[in-house]
Amino acid sequence: MQAAIAVHNVTKTYSPGAAAVHALNGVDLAVESGEVVFLMGPSGSGKTTLLSVMGCILQPTSGSVRIRGREVAGLPERELPAIRLGHIGFVFQGFNLFPTLSAGENVELALDLKGIRGRDARRRAMDLLEQVGIREKYGVFPADLSGGQKQRVAIARALAGAPDILLADEPTAALDSHVGRRILELVRSLAHSQGVAVVIVTHDSRMLQFTDRLVHIEDGRIVKPPEVATSPPAAATLEIAPLVVSGA
Ligand code: ADP
Ligand code: MG
Repeated sequence: MQAAIAVHNVTKTYSPGAAAVHALNGVDLAVESGEVVFLMGPSGSGKTTLLSVMGCILQPTSGSVRIRGREVAGLPERELPAIRLGHIGFVFQGFNLFPTLSAGENVELALDLKGIRGRDARRRAMDLLEQVGIREKYGVFPADLSGGQKQRVAIARALAGAPDILLADEPTAALDSHVGRRILELVRSLAHSQGVAVVIVTHDSRMLQFTDRLVHIEDGRIVKPPEVATSPPAAATLEIAPLVVSGA
């Protein structure tokens, strides 16, 4: 099966002034339609950079980025917005809703970019809000929504363009953990039912039940997960530890 998105041997070097920052150092990652991948790693490890490259916000310094098999690395900057519009939805930690627009209007703005306007847009926005469980908030402004509700609007907006790929950068960081859990549960069920490939950056290992696959990144490289995800018996730790050391 062709991946919804596949990056191969991607590097990204930022060059602010003299000192180059090697944010990505040869990343391979493919995500299938309907698959939810969690991307975890320390601060500064390249998570946001990788998401930005996958989302055609940033061009990689080298390597390949294929969206539904089409190479997009190296395309001129001016062609990237159309690719984003056609394939990608974004959800951010800070919701990024327009404060002067209601929940429904925030979704309709995204539909407008797709050429869906008027009564069609309103119907579709209602439908999207229904999918994220807040249809009754159509006319409510962001200031009167809870954090979880705002993130639901942001998810509805991200799905408005019927994207192949949904990218979320720490979407639950500003939420209480029980609200965050419900948001990830929602994203996962939408991904599975609508066949959207999802990559979620998260710090919270308590959320692991909502992922299909966990990917770790360190120093701009995909690495094997840390050896202990849960707490094994002490004896097992002793057996594993020398193997890890000798393999390092
Ligand atoms: P993460 O999201 O995992 O915290 P980032 O992708 O934001 O990591 O950053 C990876 C590395 O690239 C860090 O060293 C960061 O300081 C650097 N970096 C990120 N964005 C820029 C930029 N616009 N200019 C220069 N360096 C950057
Ligand atoms: Mg980041």
